[in-house]
Amino acid sequence: MNIKQVAVVGGGTMGNGIAHVVAMAGFPVTLIDIKAEVLEKALATISKNLGRMVSKEKITQQQMDETLGRIKTSDSLEKGALNADLVIEAVNENFELKKKIFQTLDKVTPADTILASNTSSISITKLAAVTGRADKVIGMHFFNPVPVMKLVEIIRGLDTSDEVYNVIEKLSKDLGKVPVPVNDFPGFVSNRVLMPMINEAIFCVHEGVATAEHVDEVMKLGMAHPMGPLRLADFIGLDVCLDILNVLYEGFRDPKYRPCPLLVKMVDAGKLGDKTGQGFYNHQK
Ligand code: NAD
Repeated sequence: MNIKQVAVVGGGTMGNGIAHVVAMAGFPVTLIDIKAEVLEKALATISKNLGRMVSKEKITQQQMDETLGRIKTSDSLEKGALNADLVIEAVNENFELKKKIFQTLDKVTPADTILASNTSSISITKLAAVTGRADKVIGMHFFNPVPVMKLVEIIRGLDTSDEVYNVIEKLSKDLGKVPVPVNDFPGFVSNRVLMPMINEAIFCVHEGVATAEHVDEVMKLGMAHPMGPLRLADFIGLDVCLDILNVLYEGFRDPKYRPCPLLVKMVDAGKLGDKTGQGFYNHQK
């Protein structure tokens, strides 16, 4: 199994970062999204981030141009993923949506193409089961912002083969990341630990224990967190946090994961954090 061509499905927050690091590492990559404006914005973001690296003299202008030259975009899953040896899916955290994408990918890509998901919490085993190649389905959980964050949680589904695991572990290192193996359980390790903390911070605001700013100050100054949990929740996206908490709640059937009503209310109101300009903080300024 040799990875020569990569496709990334979903050009949002995570997808554009994944395409960026894959292209930087020398692989041709097709970034696929159903929305043309997302693809335009993704290319502009990648360009801006690479430009920043050039001005900091971390890469040369030539490396930037070559990296951009390796990125193609497509609004068609069928065409964009056709020749990929590896597809990394990064669409919204919704099982039914991911299921459709995996079923299509299973039909249109060559039989030995590896299908990876950047899901934060959905079962890799369950996604693998909708394909006819469960041994070639794996989780590659990157962190935001992808070009900066070193960790990739690599999640083995029940039937993921050792060969596929080894290819993805090596590829993650080639991307300049540090892979950590994790077994397939709701929320894996990162979100099983992080989301209950964020949820509890939201409960503190909901119950009037402290303001969002004060909760964050406690965690930054007292626990040496670089970012408070509520600022982090805004950064991740409150809708993404709610989706992950629901997966934990349903996956374990344990009330300790129940999403705080304030989180639900904020998502219902469209206050999703940085991406909408308002969450626990106002990001419009
Ligand atoms: P996002 O909302 O920014 O982007 C999702 C993109 O998927 C959108 O651009 C949307 O147009 C596209 N999309 C939807 N349906 C599609 C389809 N049928 N074909 C092609 N594209 C389609 O979401 P995100 O924050 O980038 O999250 C993506 C995935 O990464 C989720 O599974 C999420 O849980 C996971 N994740 C997110 C973070 C984070 O901090 N945001 C971190 C790690 C993992």
